[in-house]
Amino acid sequence: MSTKLSPIWDIIIIGGGAAGFFAAIRTAEENPTLRVLILEKASQTLGKVLVSGGGRCNVTHACFEPAKLITYYPRGGNELRGAFSRFQPKDTVEWFEERGVKLKVESDGRMFPVTDDSNTVANCLRDAAKQARVRVELGASVLGVEKTPQGGFRLEVQKEAQKVFIQTKKLMFATGGDRKSQNLIQSLGHNIAPQVPSLFTFNIKDKRIHDLAGVAVEDVTVKMDGLTARGPLLITHWGMSGPAVLRLSAWGARILFDKNFASLLTVNWLGDYKLDAALEVLQRNKDWHENARKKIAAHSAFSQIPIRLWKQLVYFIGDKNWADVSKAEIQKLAQELTAGEYKIQGKGQFKDEFVTCGGVSLKEVDFKTMQSRIVDGLYFGGEVLDIDGITGGFNFQAAWTTGWLAGSAMSG
Ligand SMILES: Cc1cc2nc3c(=O)[nH]c(=O)nc-3n(C[C@H](O)[C@H](O)[C@H](O)COP(=O)(O)OP(=O)(O)OC[C@H]3O[C@@H](n4cnc5c(N)ncnc54)[C@H](O)[C@@H]3O)c2cc1C
Repeated sequence: MSTKLSPIWDIIIIGGGAAGFFAAIRTAEENPTLRVLILEKASQTLGKVLVSGGGRCNVTHACFEPAKLITYYPRGGNELRGAFSRFQPKDTVEWFEERGVKLKVESDGRMFPVTDDSNTVANCLRDAAKQARVRVELGASVLGVEKTPQGGFRLEVQKEAQKVFIQTKKLMFATGGDRKSQNLIQSLGHNIAPQVPSLFTFNIKDKRIHDLAGVAVEDVTVKMDGLTARGPLLITHWGMSGPAVLRLSAWGARILFDKNFASLLTVNWLGDYKLDAALEVLQRNKDWHENARKKIAAHSAFSQIPIRLWKQLVYFIGDKNWADVSKAEIQKLAQELTAGEYKIQGKGQFKDEFVTCGGVSLKEVDFKTMQSRIVDGLYFGGEVLDIDGITGGFNFQAAWTTGWLAGSAMSG
């Protein structure tokens, strides 16, 4: 530990990620008299910001209605309702713009810095922290925390081979998914919802999608265990991915974990088509005299289904002309198109945005201030909480919002 590091602080934030930085900057800007310290165990801060969004950092999502925004959070939506009325994506956009980082919206609503470079975001946060005189200590791992009789906290910190003890009046955990840090939080009396993966792809071995890696369908509805998600679907070497699958994995994270990532997936390749509507289109194709001598596999009857996928979905009918296809086969094909069943046999990883669900139990946190309802002076922000969003910038938004709220409260 640097000899210059004071043993006494007003505010210590454990974790130099998105939530920790936002909280530290907010609190120091609001009250410049406070001595604010970030302890980060890695050799650099904002590691996840840098790798996020494929190096572009999907900062937030262009959804400016709190009521709508919360529907993107499988866990934490209700609790975030009020929080988003205080700090939401519009505020995030302004916050960064005021500090010289302009964000742009992509067609699917994701927002990135116009530079398409996550360094722009990380540098902005580091500069703002420096400007607000936040002290950042790198390579400093918090190993132990206890309440002091005076109402503050005493921390055991390891830096290189040295262990030191420092004290603070207020303490914030912004430690992301770090399991050891969760033990520290538990030791202070909090409950932690068990961590399980969220946002992953499905491993599916099935001849209907075999060798189709790279084929995408724009509007697909997927169902599993009573849950439904809709959006683009991408066939991969191992199974299925794309927004529809990732969303379903997030909503079904706990169910799938409990079932060891094995379940039955129902796929409607035609978005919201009902069986009857699909049957009608197929019957029209069969009745159309020009089609009579055409092979059913030669052309997709639905423009939204790529020909390579169509060929494999109609495989069971054989090499027949439309005129020779039976009613039962038409019926079976309509079923295949609108409610094909696939066995999920495991999970893959979605490398662009890996998050876990689980964390500090939300009942134990006051979402107006992000202060613990159990321990006075203790605050939380970001992924350490039992909050997670679907892919698209929602996870960072939760970190900005909860960090900002904690920072505001700690400054008072
Ligand atoms: C590859 C990848 C890409 C992603 N892309 C996106 C994206 O584009 N958009 C989006 O919204 N979300 C994205 N996410 C999710 C997003 O990165 C997280 O939700 C977000 O970083 C959470 O921020 P945080 O500050 O809560 O935690 P983190 O960013 O995890 O920061 C926690 C910090 O605490 C430190 N720490 C933990 N314990 C201790 C301790 N005991 N002592 C000292 N330091 C400690 C850690 O080293 C870490 O730096 C991505 C995630 C990954 C992994």
